Amino acid sequence: MPHSLRSAIPRSRRTTAALLACAVSGCLIAASAPSPATPLGIGDPLFPTLGNPGYDVKSYDLSFTYPGSNNKPLTAVTRIKARATQRLESVNLDFAHGTVQSVDVNGLPASFTSAGEDLVITPAVPLPRGGTLRITVRHTSDPVSTKGEDGGWVQTEDGLVMANQADAAHLVFPCNDHPSDKAMFTFHVTAPDTYTAVANGVARGVERTGGATTWNYRTRHPMATELAQVSIGRSTVLHRRGPHGLPLRDVVPAEDAAVLEPWLKKTSDQIAWMEKKVGRFPFETYGLLIAQARTGFELETQTLSLFEKGVFTEPAYPAWYVESIMVHELSHQWFGDSVSPRGWSDLWLNEGHATWYEALYADETGHRPLETRMKAAYARSDQWRATGGPPADPRPAKPGQKISLFRPNVYDGSALVLYALRQKIGNRAFERLERAWVAVHRDGTADTADFEHLASVVAGRDLTSFFEGWLHGEKTPPMPGHPDWKLNPVRAPKATR
Ligand SMILES: [Zn+2]
Repeated sequence: MPHSLRSAIPRSRRTTAALLACAVSGCLIAASAPSPATPLGIGDPLFPTLGNPGYDVKSYDLSFTYPGSNNKPLTAVTRIKARATQRLESVNLDFAHGTVQSVDVNGLPASFTSAGEDLVITPAVPLPRGGTLRITVRHTSDPVSTKGEDGGWVQTEDGLVMANQADAAHLVFPCNDHPSDKAMFTFHVTAPDTYTAVANGVARGVERTGGATTWNYRTRHPMATELAQVSIGRSTVLHRRGPHGLPLRDVVPAEDAAVLEPWLKKTSDQIAWMEKKVGRFPFETYGLLIAQARTGFELETQTLSLFEKGVFTEPAYPAWYVESIMVHELSHQWFGDSVSPRGWSDLWLNEGHATWYEALYADETGHRPLETRMKAAYARSDQWRATGGPPADPRPAKPGQKISLFRPNVYDGSALVLYALRQKIGNRAFERLERAWVAVHRDGTADTADFEHLASVVAGRDLTSFFEGWLHGEKTPPMPGHPDWKLNPVRAPKATR
């Protein structure tokens, strides 16, 4: 999912914090003039200013106070614990949709300014390599998208949910907004008593004070910023047990609990089906967050996948199709969440696998043969490659059209690559590879080269040239075992202005 961004951060004032810090630290660095702040990135070719160099985030502790209206800014405190991987005179965080009131680093007030979509912090004292950073940012988090923005907070009929993929977590909170830097998350959400707040991970108790309730959650596994979820609404939380006692937790609009129940009770069997394919569910809990909003997408936020209510109530969708979408988001918990992409060019590893299990489920439950779907995808594959690049070398999205990164070629076009691989190495080796992939890289990040390497190891043969054509080629190779499958001719691209 795509999100176009415009910097909306108000120009921050250089505060008196630096002077204040000066008195505390003895003014050792007071003479050095501040260098001009510039937005930095970690070098992702598809999102050049996403993420930041020089530190590794260990944990986020996020506090939000909801004012009871979803078109007013929330007040927020973001506490980040990180380790400096180099000496740092300044620290960049990604943050672009709120007002920053103050920043502390290791207990001392720090000065700050904005540069592009970065919040650039100058600590009172430079940070040594290997040192610990404890950054506290007091800020607002604005749920109202201004022109050209997409993602981050999503306004629902009864509150807010989050949709941060791929590059919108920093519209909600200051962070190192790249999936290569996973961290542990704790949430504290305060809302008027009539609301229910839920976030990733497991509940850590509630505190009620004078008309407001604070809901606390914590993840037990590291998580990418793009997978953070906070729901605030007039919701009911439904609890049940899944395979081997796994706690399941769904968050639904209170008045729709009964009508959604026939769908929600399917999750347990779907988890059992996925576990048979690839092994144990990777997290502490799972469930569906059903939002009263028209997003146009569903999203695999970790432990709590986001769905539009309309997926379940729109009569035009056949039941098997709805179930296959549920399996798509469920399978992302292994492929994309537990094993997250090292860079956004590895997106095919997320969507290709989720589409694969979505299609396999529809096949095994007798609703849509896998081979029919793959043959249709094969026919269109050259066109998809011509339009958006090969599956593992996607062309950047056009400015303001980041949705175009989520192209057919990373969905069916990449499930097709997995089909070709299964044709090439056989079903038994393919299933061993899938299980090994989610086991070896569990709670980590991995890239396309890691997948190619593991596939060759598991299959016991060098698959370099196979992947060169299937993942990186401008033209789709012949399908192993199906010499009769045909590619549609590529239409000339439309003239662009
Ligand atoms: Zn997906």
